Amino acid sequence: MNKFIRNFSIIAHIDHGKSTLADRFLELTKTVSEREMQDQLLDQMELEREKQITIKLQPVQMEYVYKDSKYLLNLIDTPGHVDFTYEVSRSLAACEGAVLLVDASQGIEAQTLANAHLAIEHGLEIIPVVNKIDLPNAEPEKRAKELADFLGVKQDTVILVSAKEGKGIEEILKRVITKIPSPQDNQNKISRALVFDSKFDSYKGVVAYVRVFDGEIEVGAELAFKMSKAKLKPTEVGVLKPAFSAKNKIANGEIGYVVTGFKDLSLCRVGDTLTELNNLEKIKPLPGYKEIKPFVYAGFFCKDGDDYPTLKDALEKLKLSDAALTFEAEKSKALGFGFRCGFLGLLHLEIIQERLKREFDLDLLITAPSVSYKVVLQNKKEIVVKGPSELPAMGTIESISEPWVNLEIITPENYLGRIMKLVQEKRGIYKNTEYLGEKRTLLTYEMPLAEVIIDFYDQLKSASAGYASMNYTIKDYRKTDLVKLEILIAGEKVAALSQLIFKNKADRTSRAIAKKLKATVPKQMFEVPIQVARNGEIIARETLGAMRKDVTAKLYGGDVTRKQKLLKKQKKGKKKMKEMGKIDLPQEVYWSVLKR
Ligand code: GDP
Ligand code: MG
Repeated sequence: MNKFIRNFSIIAHIDHGKSTLADRFLELTKTVSEREMQDQLLDQMELEREKQITIKLQPVQMEYVYKDSKYLLNLIDTPGHVDFTYEVSRSLAACEGAVLLVDASQGIEAQTLANAHLAIEHGLEIIPVVNKIDLPNAEPEKRAKELADFLGVKQDTVILVSAKEGKGIEEILKRVITKIPSPQDNQNKISRALVFDSKFDSYKGVVAYVRVFDGEIEVGAELAFKMSKAKLKPTEVGVLKPAFSAKNKIANGEIGYVVTGFKDLSLCRVGDTLTELNNLEKIKPLPGYKEIKPFVYAGFFCKDGDDYPTLKDALEKLKLSDAALTFEAEKSKALGFGFRCGFLGLLHLEIIQERLKREFDLDLLITAPSVSYKVVLQNKKEIVVKGPSELPAMGTIESISEPWVNLEIITPENYLGRIMKLVQEKRGIYKNTEYLGEKRTLLTYEMPLAEVIIDFYDQLKSASAGYASMNYTIKDYRKTDLVKLEILIAGEKVAALSQLIFKNKADRTSRAIAKKLKATVPKQMFEVPIQVARNGEIIARETLGAMRKDVTAKLYGGDVTRKQKLLKKQKKGKKKMKEMGKIDLPQEVYWSVLKR
């Protein structure tokens, strides 16, 4: 039976056409009717459609007839951005092969390399494809050669396609069937399935996405999770087309979903093995994934304190489909109750914030993101500091270390100079240059993560007219010299804007922050001093001028006493407001500082 199953992912750099290619597969196999078809159909989240990026992996089962036999093709569409590499690695663990896509006008980019390496590590069969050959500036032959050289295969094995115009699509499916191995036949073994994703569905509750490796997963069977030990009798199982399509069972070799009936969301963990309750002790867990650790942290606080339980519930639900997200309760004197949340990068943070706002209607205040630091105290105790508020008094600290990354940048040669200069400003250490075919270079650097997360990607893009791409992986922790910057607006400390900054950059950063704030804080009826303090000492200052509201404008005609009375009243009002000192800062102000 497994002879007629193929499991594969589509992997590529962002925007090289994965979701569009998936659309063509869905049409060709008539998985989705013409009426239901829309562009990038597998990007089902509202946010994905709006931002035109894939955030979540998305499985779909298709049927395709080849040489008179009907095949089940399980496809997983994956995201391309570096923050979501974890989604890719989980998708690959569920598959035997991968279609590696390269844009014919762009060629190999940083995520092409990163994702191809992941597929190779997982031992997958790779099908190389050059997409967008319809573009006027496409160079299919050149790109095919580049890709073939990189993979060490013959150039004529690279399939040339246009996902947009639907050219060459069938050839990919044929290659999937002939080249990607069918899943091993393990029908008679004790059932085991790998949870590679999960989500909360408002009708079905907690749903696990699984790849069945051994035996089968049947409705009503007595099952349990190896790691969490949670027992379950699935109320429904089935495959994704891409909507839920219920069946009696999912056989070995297949990809599908299991409705767990769990109330407690934390019992269903990505990477866990679903197996038979009776054999729970006996069986070994399937190789899961390495647990991923977030390196970027920010505090999430509700503007309305009553929302706190909603925020907790929302984070638990999002975590179910986002194994990389972490959160722990945090209490701040200034901001009240909230959570310190951990992310894989700034885009990840931004997406979670957006989803909390849209899907759960939460009005949040988010503090400056920070990487996690390792701090050794003078009493030799080591602690992890995930934000400015957790930093102990400087006097008690022996040393602080910060995370460093291995950074890969691919760029056309003509931007080398500008990129090298940029990386130097960011404390980068040059490691290596490699030439990738014609006039394109792969630069390797080491750089502090703190420099990467704030704005580096945008600056790299502008230094290279949009052509350079990058990827990074965490390498190690190295000693660093930190200072804490605090921001005072109208004399009041704004706790959410405090930041930990590399010492030598404190002055420059402070001035930049003060300027940014001056430009974004809304004008008040009175003058507002904006100050940045370092260890209590003011090192940058700007003044936001008062808004002049012409209270006398309504008065025409000359009653002087009335005019004076109004002006006096206004003055009094200004004084009162100044005393209260409360300025309501919109979230844009926070973002402007965080992103610089
Ligand atoms: P993904 O990020 O890899 O999933 O890429 P998408 O499928 O979202 O496509 C990114 C952009 O490239 C979209 O604007 C697509 O319309 C466009 N695109 C995808 N395939 C082709 C193609 O074969 N030719 C052309 N001209 N554009 C394409
Ligand atoms: Mg996509």
